[in-house]
Amino acid sequence: MSLTYCKAIHSGAVVSSNGNLYPCCAWRPSDSETKFKFTKISEFLESEQLSNFRQALDSGVKIPQCVSCWQQEAIGVKSLREQYNKSLTIDGNLNYIDLKLGNLCDLKCVMCHGTNSSQLMSEYITHREKFIKLSAFRTYDTTVDYSWPESVEFKEFFEKIKNNLLEIKFTGGEPTLNPYLIDFLESIVDKKKVTVWIVTNANRYNEKLAVVLSKFKLVHFAISLEGIEKHNDMIRFNSDWEQVSNNIRRYAESTNSKITISHVIQAFSVSTVIPLIQWVSQRKYNLHLLPLNGYMHLGLNSVPPDRISKFQGDLKLLNSVYAKQLLEELKNYKFNAEYHSQRIEHIKLLDDLRGTSLSSII
Ligand code: SF4
Repeated sequence: MSLTYCKAIHSGAVVSSNGNLYPCCAWRPSDSETKFKFTKISEFLESEQLSNFRQALDSGVKIPQCVSCWQQEAIGVKSLREQYNKSLTIDGNLNYIDLKLGNLCDLKCVMCHGTNSSQLMSEYITHREKFIKLSAFRTYDTTVDYSWPESVEFKEFFEKIKNNLLEIKFTGGEPTLNPYLIDFLESIVDKKKVTVWIVTNANRYNEKLAVVLSKFKLVHFAISLEGIEKHNDMIRFNSDWEQVSNNIRRYAESTNSKITISHVIQAFSVSTVIPLIQWVSQRKYNLHLLPLNGYMHLGLNSVPPDRISKFQGDLKLLNSVYAKQLLEELKNYKFNAEYHSQRIEHIKLLDDLRGTSLSSII
């Protein structure tokens, strides 16, 4: 087996928030590759393009589309490729699907993008002239239709693929807001052979959804937290910590569930991640530390060296694998003064628009 072999590209697929198909969620599509909509699933799976990508990875070629896996492996972090190679089955069928059910979401997380949050998209449309003046901001394409998960075509697509699935992941946006999620899950016949992943902000608890999920082999709740208490409420704006922490406890109580807390490593982490590590450890949940995608000016390199030194000192006092992982991550730290001023400018605008005090966190 080659050092770049990946089961995801042989037995999995992702439907991205705009309805395009890719081999996995970490895939960075090139401008030149053909994009297939979910309605063209057969063409995608049988395409010469996908066959070429598979052959490249099978024979040890580090294709650029998989750069996030190569970067993680280079610093000793377990990549998605390594995780999939452990968890996925290859039997010639599409066994794994990751569905990013559009951008419908109830939160406006600082490091997120309108592609993944309808709330951020609305905020951008209302204050576009302020956002486009920022020196570092990825503008949003307001013309994309994110309502495809509610279409008849998507229901037909799900009907076509559902019976071979062994693992299914729902992300978003916030997947629990999708009006059809329960119907999709209920329509799977042999639920006891299927593992379900729900990537959620845990801001709401849906009783009917909990009943359906209890019928599956295993349910992984991957819950996104950027800190605890008011830190999480401000960074994941509109969330309510009391509700969130109660809902996590309820998810954890079901007998077929596993809880993983996900945290995006970013500038705020220097103040928020240590309390989060302690909270997670007390409850014996797993913590998944994720790289920040897209917004470089919101990353650790935007934090001045004296604050990073304090963070490193505090991490060294913690007896935790997560602290070790962060210390490892900090070996790549290099202060960037431009990112620093871009972050201050961006966060000030959000504080002005939302009435928050994000600027006080670091
Ligand atoms: S190597 Fe990584 S990015 Fe490439 S298909 Fe596999 S999981 Fe996805």
